[in-house]
Amino acid sequence: MIFEYYYRIQALYLAAMAKELLPDSVLTNWQKKSADRQKLYKQYLQRAKKNDVLKQLPDLHEEAFSKIDCLQCAACCKNYSPRFKTPDIKRISKLLRMKEGEFVETYLREDEDGDFVLQQLPCPFLGADHYCSIYEDRPSDCHRFPYTDEDIIIKRQPLTLKNATFCPITYYVLEGLLKNK
Ligand code: SF4
Ligand code: SF4
Repeated sequence: MIFEYYYRIQALYLAAMAKELLPDSVLTNWQKKSADRQKLYKQYLQRAKKNDVLKQLPDLHEEAFSKIDCLQCAACCKNYSPRFKTPDIKRISKLLRMKEGEFVETYLREDEDGDFVLQQLPCPFLGADHYCSIYEDRPSDCHRFPYTDEDIIIKRQPLTLKNATFCPITYYVLEGLLKNK
């Protein structure tokens, strides 16, 4: 584990030598900065070349996760529901030793798009310590969120802009893309 950490730090150091990382101060008062820069993000996402963005995402995504601890945040799990698709429902109800129908009835409702989402927020599987009690089997939406290593960031721009208002990782990645443009 310690070696994994060492190599991660070394990789980040080498990345920092190759191209300057964003300063930590970018995260100070980030909600206000993100709100102020929504128009700028929108213009950038509309004009950016998809391949240029995709090339930068793996490093920026890793950099963001190395600087921001989701366990200190949990804003997504507290305020927004993932979609529970059929494989998610099958997997999680099996984990909880519940019948699928019982699981749906206990935790889920259908939203206006016909997707199953949580009846209540914060997510009932979120602990007080911000750990997810079904982490290994969590819905694929949770696994992929905040989509900062996927083309979703360009394809679903309104979603990216909204995520940047409450998710510091999305904000950080957008700031990195803007800095490198
Ligand atoms: S909102 Fe973003 S930073 Fe916060 S827990 Fe979710 S993914 Fe992590
Ligand atoms: S299932 Fe887990 S990761 Fe997904 S919203 Fe609930 S607590 Fe968060």
